[in-house]
Amino acid sequence: MKNIPLLNLKAQYESIKEEINAAVMDVLESQQFILGDNVKELERAVAKKSGVRYGIGVASGSDALLLSLMAIGVKEGDEVITTPFTFFATVGSIVRLKAKPVFVDIDSVDFNMLLKDVESSMTERTKAILPVHLYGQMIDMCELKEIADRHGIAIVEDAAQAIFAYQQTGDSKIIAGSAGMTGCISFFPSKNLGAYGDGGMIVTNDEKLAELLMQLRVHGSSKQYYHKYVGINSRLDELQAAILGVKLKHIDKWIEARREKADNYRKLMREKGLDEFVECPKEKEGFYHTYHQFTVRVKRNRDALMKYLNENGVSCRVYYPLPLHLQESFASLGYKKGQFPNAEKASDEVLSIPVYPELSFGEQEYIVNKIGGFYGV
Ligand SMILES: *Cc1c(COP(=O)(O)O)cnc(C)c1O
Repeated sequence: MKNIPLLNLKAQYESIKEEINAAVMDVLESQQFILGDNVKELERAVAKKSGVRYGIGVASGSDALLLSLMAIGVKEGDEVITTPFTFFATVGSIVRLKAKPVFVDIDSVDFNMLLKDVESSMTERTKAILPVHLYGQMIDMCELKEIADRHGIAIVEDAAQAIFAYQQTGDSKIIAGSAGMTGCISFFPSKNLGAYGDGGMIVTNDEKLAELLMQLRVHGSSKQYYHKYVGINSRLDELQAAILGVKLKHIDKWIEARREKADNYRKLMREKGLDEFVECPKEKEGFYHTYHQFTVRVKRNRDALMKYLNENGVSCRVYYPLPLHLQESFASLGYKKGQFPNAEKASDEVLSIPVYPELSFGEQEYIVNKIGGFYGV
């Protein structure tokens, strides 16, 4: 029996060990741990690669969201339009500021917010729209931006799962995080560009906002011990930035490898005749999917299939089993089961199977054969 993890970080480390170890040693020798050259260099490089002018390194993707909402002035009583089908942090950031998340259902093809429901969800209290580029594929930012601009509402992009994903429109590329007021990136270890601990970054084109964010991450001060705002302590640290700097050099080929694995899966599943049982993720035309997850829809017996795969050495997981409008912590918002049928259906059907650059073709064949075995094909 094989043993295939959902993500194989040890294999990745083996392939870059010397570079990483040297980068870490350099930081240790320098004894410069907070907001030094490594952070500055990473901010510059990630911003450039995201197609924007500024990057602000912060302690996590969750803080990138929180700080972004703070910076655009989201406060008690404001409404923020978002998706119920995402990781908790997206919505947690809104609620922590005592603002109200206003959910719209998701599109059943790309799992992202349903664009057609965004406008009708606006009220005079709508302060921002917080879309999530789920699993590594962007929502149509062209269309969303047009809707937001028409009403003068800011967009904060949750690009935690979609670093360097893009959308091609004519001759230009819209890179994840670059079209909103800010884009929020996570360097959580399992993300496509993962640190060896927590980390995150905010990217933006807005100079004023960048300056404000650089203060908000150090308790609202620009000059030490003089505080213009009430911020928080949330910085990307030098060790993580040094590690990420090494990994950034490899990210393009790693994303390409993920895309290759995704194509292989689609081919193998089709050949095996699994299409009626398992629906592979679709890549929308003009969108560069970075496959943070390869998430299939299982049409029959999802939970039994998951158990069967786990028992046969294939790690797989449900992202996410309970949509956020049904979470206990948000009960006071008053949402009910049945209100967002597409999100609820997705929660019942989705299954993420292993996808990472080091996954071998043989391992993919094994996984697809096991799925076939479960359905008896
Ligand atoms: C990972 C993730 C976050 C939070 O990032 P952290 O770095 O773990 O705080 C936010 N939103 C989404 C969609 C995520 O996947």
